[in-house]
Amino acid sequence: MNESNNERVVTRFAPSPTGFMHVGGVRTALFAWLFARKNGGKFILRIEDTDKKREVEGSIDHIIKSLKWVGLDWDEGPDVGGPNGPYIQSQRSESHLKYAQILIDKALAYAYPSPDEELEAFRKKAEIEKRPFLYRDHRPENPPVWDGTKPLRFKVPEIKTYEWFDLVRGNLSAGPEALDDFVLIKSDGYPTYNFAHIVDDLDMGVTHIFRTDEFISSTPKYLSLYEALEIQRPHIAILPPIMGDDKKKKLGKRDGAKDALDYKAEGYLPEALVNFLAFIGWNPGDEREIFTLAELVDAFSIDHIHKSGGIFNVEKLDWVNKEHIKRLNQAEQFILVQQFMPESVTNLDNYNLNILED
Ligand code: GLU
Repeated sequence: MNESNNERVVTRFAPSPTGFMHVGGVRTALFAWLFARKNGGKFILRIEDTDKKREVEGSIDHIIKSLKWVGLDWDEGPDVGGPNGPYIQSQRSESHLKYAQILIDKALAYAYPSPDEELEAFRKKAEIEKRPFLYRDHRPENPPVWDGTKPLRFKVPEIKTYEWFDLVRGNLSAGPEALDDFVLIKSDGYPTYNFAHIVDDLDMGVTHIFRTDEFISSTPKYLSLYEALEIQRPHIAILPPIMGDDKKKKLGKRDGAKDALDYKAEGYLPEALVNFLAFIGWNPGDEREIFTLAELVDAFSIDHIHKSGGIFNVEKLDWVNKEHIKRLNQAEQFILVQQFMPESVTNLDNYNLNILED
């Protein structure tokens, strides 16, 4: 079944370069990639780097290396280009400004003039009166013309509960608590993720977004922007969280989850890692457990993504890795093992091979 209702599927992985590529990120990329490949669609890599304070040097490179190592490829992206570039969010300001202007023209965005001290006073007052501080309670009556030096805020048109259909979880809703006049473009000139990803997904023709559940509470913000811009939103598929072995909290480094390339250094096979990650929150609907990437594409379906969290179990990873190693032929096994052996062992010159000759 084509779960895309016959539209050309376009998915994306849109990491922020705020650290190295954690296995959780690989799992998100994998599901978006599998869905695109299964449906003959496109998979885009976009780097969301507009939070300059949090950017970590070297992370774009690490993200690209990690994705390549596990065998994912992309049809458009910062390194391969494509018709909808640039694929680095901070370089897309022309488009962000175009949509910001549309909102300004509709009186749905305004420059926020209040200096920090004034805001602080508003905040203190709200605290004393035991009510939440809301920017929308302090909209300027005559906002100055936006010249880029002040934050541009979205004037949320309606405070309401949003209901939407999620491809994995079904009907979801989130309420007014998420809706305040949030920033579209910061005073440093960069757009916020909340705004930029809406514009970029639109420009890139993204049809399906795969992301984890921490984005559910912000979804009313996104929905209010789609409405204000009068654009059709992509389908959303919320992936289940990855839980640590204790099944209680989300996966962290203490649970043995590392950066993707650490697994490479430790001798895990990339096919084993993706096979293992695919099963965190998905199953093929039958008893099979060992899959190549191509077999995963074949078996993948959103219908079999779970709603509740999947466990990151290192023992299971080791077992999956062992099964994949067993599938290698002898030469492949030798190459794998070779990298962990001292050169004195693997250098054939160190052996008297004459004895093998007649
Ligand atoms: N840049 C966001 C992140 O890395 C992308 C989230 C999304 O829209 O899927 O969390």
